Amino acid sequence: MSNVSNEEIQKFNDQDWWNTEGELKTLHDINPTRFEFMEDCVELAGKKALDIGCGGGIISEGLAHRHAKVTGIDMAPNAIEVANHHAKSHHLEIDYQVITAEEFAKDHIEKFDVITCLEMLEHVPTPSSVIKAASDMLKPGGSIFFSTINRTFKAKSLAVFAAENVLRIVPKGTHDYNKFITPLELYEMCEAYGLTVKRIQGMSYNPFNRVAGLTDDVSMNYLVYATKDRI
Ligand code: SAH
Repeated sequence: MSNVSNEEIQKFNDQDWWNTEGELKTLHDINPTRFEFMEDCVELAGKKALDIGCGGGIISEGLAHRHAKVTGIDMAPNAIEVANHHAKSHHLEIDYQVITAEEFAKDHIEKFDVITCLEMLEHVPTPSSVIKAASDMLKPGGSIFFSTINRTFKAKSLAVFAAENVLRIVPKGTHDYNKFITPLELYEMCEAYGLTVKRIQGMSYNPFNRVAGLTDDVSMNYLVYATKDRI
């Protein structure tokens, strides 16, 4: 059985990915902060990068703009079509494929210098399986980034209830609180698959002025930077 929830894929398949005022606007709003974190951890230029759960390509294009050689994978075919079209019309060369991380890992063992898997783990049935596949695909000495939402009461009240029903900044039904992952759980999954966690950092988001930032508070969204040791 594949590690894919069709219900989750449906939520993202027909999104207006590049509309910065649309349903996925928060992904655009937090993007500079995600890159601020990643660029603080690793040089992206010239790296072979894989973006797992790339959707319409918001992160993949950010990586390509920073001169990484990018592959983006996602199980939503229409999102990949949007990603392909957008990259071409912006003269960016990105290899997009409709495939799971687990399947792609079979013939891409230790092929990537940098792997990003942002806002994706909370949408898959078994996140540890994606982390294992990602670790397998990372070169020794490589860098990997995850981001997700912590399973706290605050995240349940704000990131799910208020965001979907009051502020209406994310589409209804986007997030299931029970699928959120604590930083300790993510830390343990990384370490279990040979990754060394170097940094865990909270990400704040103000829905009123739409400004995101890095914070020490990991009670809602957070980012993880890990590396794979050279043997
Ligand atoms: N990483 C992007 C998009 C996040 S939305 C960004 O942060 O901007 C979550 C994405 O994960 C969606 O595009 C969805 O289709 C994808 N996804 C969910 N389950 C998946 C799976 N099992 N394999 C690959 N992609 C998946």
